[in-house]
Amino acid sequence: MDLDELYQDLLLDHHKNPRCYGKMESPDKQAEVHNPLCGDVINIELKLDGDVVSDFSYTGSGCLISQAGASLLSEVIIGKNLAEIAELSDTYDRMLKSSVPEEELECLGDLQALSGVKQFPARYKCAKLAFMALNKASKDE
Ligand code: ZN
Repeated sequence: MDLDELYQDLLLDHHKNPRCYGKMESPDKQAEVHNPLCGDVINIELKLDGDVVSDFSYTGSGCLISQAGASLLSEVIIGKNLAEIAELSDTYDRMLKSSVPEEELECLGDLQALSGVKQFPARYKCAKLAFMALNKASKDE
């Protein structure tokens, strides 16, 4: 399998038309993470309503997987609480490393577009970067 096969239409679309890209006014939480293996940077900002993510935005640069991953993440997490997001993160993690039954992946929505990454362990961190930023931001006091 060629790496290009990872780059499905959905990923390309998110890369070309990123959702939630930009900066917000007075975020409640923010975090920046780097992936030195690939040169990717993701900076995310959150607004929280209690422990529910009510708004999310990101900026960054790097490979298609890392940037489309952040855009896809934005569509899945808004409106979810931090416990639900931690669960999604676990499921996503398993998807990136192994074959997981489809019904378990439904909660990930379009993030399933990145399931091909499991064949490319070197790109794991690219795909996980936005979740790592989210995790860091949610622990930021
Ligand atoms: Zn990358």
